[in-house]
Amino acid sequence: MNVLEINKLYKRFGDREVLKGLDMMVPEHSIFGFIGKNGAGKTTTIKIILGLLKQDSGTITVCGQKVTYGDTKTNRYIGFLPDVPEFYGYMNPMEYLNLCGEITGLSKNKIKSKSEELLELVGLKDEKKKKIRGFSRGMKQRLGIAQALLNEPKLLICDEPTSALDPIGRKEILDILSAAKGKTTIIFSTHILSDVERICDYIGVLHDGKLALCGTLSEIKENYRHNEFVLEFGSEKEASIFEMLDELKHPSIRLWRSGNAVKVLLTDDRMDGSFLLSVLSQKCLVPLKFAVVEPTLESLFMEVVQ
Ligand code: ADP
Repeated sequence: MNVLEINKLYKRFGDREVLKGLDMMVPEHSIFGFIGKNGAGKTTTIKIILGLLKQDSGTITVCGQKVTYGDTKTNRYIGFLPDVPEFYGYMNPMEYLNLCGEITGLSKNKIKSKSEELLELVGLKDEKKKKIRGFSRGMKQRLGIAQALLNEPKLLICDEPTSALDPIGRKEILDILSAAKGKTTIIFSTHILSDVERICDYIGVLHDGKLALCGTLSEIKENYRHNEFVLEFGSEKEASIFEMLDELKHPSIRLWRSGNAVKVLLTDDRMDGSFLLSVLSQKCLVPLKFAVVEPTLESLFMEVVQ
């Protein structure tokens, strides 16, 4: 089941068309990495999902219910963590969560037990009676996650939760989101690809108003796999003999040699590694190493975005 479905979403600001028919599905219990350069339209999409901004056209459903601008009924399924959450500095985490719970209409007992559980999850148990005023950015971000989870949402949306944090603060947030995965579905918007590779199981790359890439990381890598290989020979001489072979002089074969290593890119889908192996065997050339180059999320991102 998909917790979130976006169909043909369009949005423009003046003559700037930001979303151009965005389709996006977020499966239940996934951590969905919503990736895009600054200005790609991630926050715009999130605001429309929250019913805070009106789309020009297109539909969104959250847990099967249609999102309508200005009517925030579907937000009862959603917990939201803005990029820079704001708090009342004079309160402590328990008081703050109590206030949030009362606004949402939770019972006193429920607020107390959930607050204890969530402050433990986000590592703020020992700070529960300390004023938020003295908290670091990372601590505020963690308290923001506790607040967003208070209502046991089906979908937790985090807008750039790690972008302003140092590596330790980022790791803490990523660990908390991984731990929260069993409880809810998470949309994690970011431009930090290494964070996505660490915790996300589904990925959508927003580019030019649509998802330019989407699926699981392994599906994406499989679909975009190029026939790229690295061969390492015992000597530069052998590598250069291989590089010069007539059998490899073909417009769809590209070669780069560096010392005793040769990188080969086969741009014709009908060719694969077995072709190279047969050439090597015909010429009695035995490389020390023959490796398929796996694309990285970064190389794929650069490819679709450039
Ligand atoms: P992201 O979150 O991916 O960085 P945004 O959704 O914030 O991107 O912005 C996408 C584009 O829409 C940007 O060019 C931004 O300047 C523009 N934009 C966002 N909100 C408004 C607005 N209220 N009025 C005009 N332009 C806007």
